[in-house]
Amino acid sequence: MIEKVSHIGIAVKNLEESIKIYENLGLKLEAIEVVESQKVKVAFIPVGKEVRIELLEATSPDSPIAKFIEKKGQGVHHIAFATENLQERLLELAETDMRLIDKTPRPGAHGADIAFLHPKSTGGVLVELCQEKH
Ligand code: ZN
Repeated sequence: MIEKVSHIGIAVKNLEESIKIYENLGLKLEAIEVVESQKVKVAFIPVGKEVRIELLEATSPDSPIAKFIEKKGQGVHHIAFATENLQERLLELAETDMRLIDKTPRPGAHGADIAFLHPKSTGGVLVELCQEKH
């Protein structure tokens, strides 16, 4: 069901400053996108051909990212796994003990459909399932 890691989402206070850190590591910024529905500004930084870092900066104080940073500080926010047939996967997972944050896919960054699994069901890791646009 899971094909690969799509991206690692990292909560940051200041996008520009964090982009510099990754550029200093030799990586390159690909694009920046505002995802209104999630109140985040996202910087895409590819790592090789398949995986990317997504730096997430809150665009409003009630953004989930703002709340995350308030509670835990900056750092890794979620790991996203790429999957096909996301809606089907969610229906399958709903039959198990897995707690779903999203029972149906919603639009995420990069034109993908995404759904989050609850960290209480995944050993404390916020897991995103991500059906990427081809
Ligand atoms: Zn993500």
